[in-house]
Amino acid sequence: MPELPEVETIRSQLRKLIVGKKIIRVDVGLPRMVKLPLDKFRKIVIGAEIKKVDRRAKILIFELSNGWSILIHLKLSGRLIFRRKDESLKDEDKKWNHLIYYFSDGSRIFHNDLRQFGYVKLIETEKLADFFQKEKLGPEPLERNFTFNDFLVILKRKPKAKIKQFLMDQQNIAGIGNIYSDEILFLAGVHPLRKIADLKPEEIKKIFEGMKKILSEAIKLQGSSVDLYLTALGEEGEYVPRLKVYGKEGEKCEKCGGVIKRIKIGGRSAHFCPKCQKL
Ligand SMILES: [Zn+2]
Repeated sequence: MPELPEVETIRSQLRKLIVGKKIIRVDVGLPRMVKLPLDKFRKIVIGAEIKKVDRRAKILIFELSNGWSILIHLKLSGRLIFRRKDESLKDEDKKWNHLIYYFSDGSRIFHNDLRQFGYVKLIETEKLADFFQKEKLGPEPLERNFTFNDFLVILKRKPKAKIKQFLMDQQNIAGIGNIYSDEILFLAGVHPLRKIADLKPEEIKKIFEGMKKILSEAIKLQGSSVDLYLTALGEEGEYVPRLKVYGKEGEKCEKCGGVIKRIKIGGRSAHFCPKCQKL
């Protein structure tokens, strides 16, 4: 599933490619992905200009010139691929394609989704803050004003929670999923099943710093193409070679030579080194 670094990569690429462009047509192949009547969707979107491309948690926001915003959640397997007018299409672009946005300069965005869990919504831009408040999304971990103290405050709310699940819950902190929670906890040397109340202050500090470091590095490398994720240019992200534990069950730990394990926590899996991350 695309997490914060992947969605942020798409956001920053699209910002340079579509801001100022006018949408002249939309083709919808999978109507249930659009969470409003299609004629209303078309009426609002067609003819509008893209004013801004934003992100909150794992949700992309295309702010339009007419007071509305398109919200796009890629969920498990969504992709947004941009192609210029003369650029020839690749198989990737047409595979699992459910929605195409056409711009006045002939460029297009292909919204593809193999598993079809993603959604498209329209919200009035001035009501966006209310919408996100209702979703109860936690703070953005990379915002400068999200401090160690803020992290302590949110941790204290759930002393009984296990740290891995805590990090993945969007209502605690926004944007972290399976991949980066595994990597953050490995870097911090903390077992994924540790209870928050039992964490030592220096461990909490390491988790906090690991979170900022790993997410920033993953953005620089345009995310991890472990599954179906591609950037907005249809390319793979380059963070996979940096992964230390995620998807590495049975492989050797880089730090200690031990064997990486995988366990199930609440229907999700956690990868860790039992020697470097003790319970
Ligand atoms: Zn190890």
